[in-house]
Order: sequence, then structure tokens, then C-alpha cells
Amino acid sequence: MNTDTVVKNYTRGIERIVDGIATSDGAGVKLTRVLSGKLQKRLDPFLMLDVFSSDNPDDYIAGFPDHPHRGFETVTYMLAGHMRHRDSAGHEGLLKNGGVQWMTAGRGVIHSEIPEQVDGLMEGFQLWLNLPAQRKLAEPWYRDFASETIPEYVTREGVKVRVIAGCSNGVEGAVTREVSEPLYLDIHLPAGTEYSTALPSTHNAFIYVYRGTVTVNGVQVASRRMGILNNTPAVEGVTLSATEDTRLILIAGKPLNEPIVQYGPFVMNTQQEIHQALHDYNSGHFA
Ligand code: MN
Repeated sequence: MNTDTVVKNYTRGIERIVDGIATSDGAGVKLTRVLSGKLQKRLDPFLMLDVFSSDNPDDYIAGFPDHPHRGFETVTYMLAGHMRHRDSAGHEGLLKNGGVQWMTAGRGVIHSEIPEQVDGLMEGFQLWLNLPAQRKLAEPWYRDFASETIPEYVTREGVKVRVIAGCSNGVEGAVTREVSEPLYLDIHLPAGTEYSTALPSTHNAFIYVYRGTVTVNGVQVASRRMGILNNTPAVEGVTLSATEDTRLILIAGKPLNEPIVQYGPFVMNTQQEIHQALHDYNSGHFA
């Protein structure tokens, strides 16, 4: 059976288009925050998506000096540029063009993310994936994936799919996770192509277009826009089509349906756990 054809007739649609908010973080890195705040509940298990894209070093050169995290995972996907990671658990890595860095903060990590370039383009994404309550205080974990080690496949139509997390058309991604079952795909559609993938209807899902324009069930999503996919019972897939060369990320996951209490870089289930995180951090228990 041709899965693509089955999915095609039952595509999820676009519920809402999100522009994101221009902001800065770290030591003044300019970025666009497309997922935060109220969308955390709608897009559970995802807590944040930051997009950075600039060829002006003033926008990124200071990077993100030492800062803590607890209770979730950070996934940084670098399209262009060089960024050095160091953390208090002893991990270090240089993230380069097309590479992914996956860090489980768990019970607590202090890390820095500093550019190793003085000019040129820095472009990519940082996604925050929540941890289920029973994993929030897990041991910190870290992996770097160089671009050439990220699993990929190309469809008959010539659509290239990089599988950063989860499993797509039988291709297992760089990282898989139980409980939240994240799917993270980078999809390159040449002009005039279409791409379909299975996507459980209960998984919260969104796309972010970073080149070109994609059409989903008759709705266009332009470059630099997020499109939240609707959840419709029994609609178990999504079909994307492009009339020009288009690139986007598709991110989906199974909601945790647990309370989310965030205080800056700490994301826990209760206010009490946030107080504990602050106490542990201030008394040096993260290092
Ligand atoms: Mn960080």
C-alpha cells in the first residue's frame, strides 16, 4: 500500500499562523521567539522555539554566557554558523552547519553557548522539549550530531527529509524519546513537489517555514511563519506542497498533559519545585 496516497486524502490543516516576537536573550542575541507563553499548553510537550538568523555579528557575537536549566531538554539545530557549547556536566562540543546539539538539562546544568565566528551568517533554531514529571530530575545528558550523521531520506519526488528526532517513513532519527515521542524533521521541497508523512492526530504539531512558501490543505504559510496544525480525530497525517523551493521544519509530539510552571530557565510542575530549583542553583548544586 502506498502510504503517501492514504495520507494525502486526510491531511491535517492549519489552525493558526504565528509571526513570533522579535526579542533578545543571552548577552544580547537577536532572535524571534515563535513559541512561548500561552502556546506552551497548545503545543505541549514543546515549551519554546527560538529562531535566529542574521549575518550581522552584532546580533549574535556575545552568545549565551553561563546560565542554568532544569526540567526539560534543549535541541539546537544550526543551519549555518559555528557555536561552542560547554556545560557543568563536563560536556563540550562545537555545533556547525547542519548539526544538532541535544541537551537534557534534567536535574540541572549550567552551560554556555558562544559563537565561534566573527562574521557571516548565523542561522538556526532552539527548541525546548519538556520532560515528563518523572524525568525532570534525571541525570543531565548531552550529544552532538554532526550534519553528516543525521539520518536523511529522499522521496521519489526529490523531497529531502532530515530526521532529527523520531521516526519518519521507517527512518529512525538522531534521537528518539519515549513518553513525548517527539518528531523533528527538516524538509526540503523542490518547486512543484508534495510530501506526506504520517502524524498521529493526538500529537500536537507545527511547522516553521524558513525558505519559500508551503501550502497545507489549501492554506499558505509563508517564510518566517509558524503554522500550527489542527488536531482532528482520525486525521493521521499531513501533506505539504510547494510551488517554489521551500524549506521548513516540522515538529510534533505527544502532549504530557501535566502542569507547566516556568520561571525563566527552570520548567517544573509546581511552584514549590521552582523554589527548590532556585535554592539548588543558588547553593551551587547545579555545578
Ligand atoms: Mn541555554
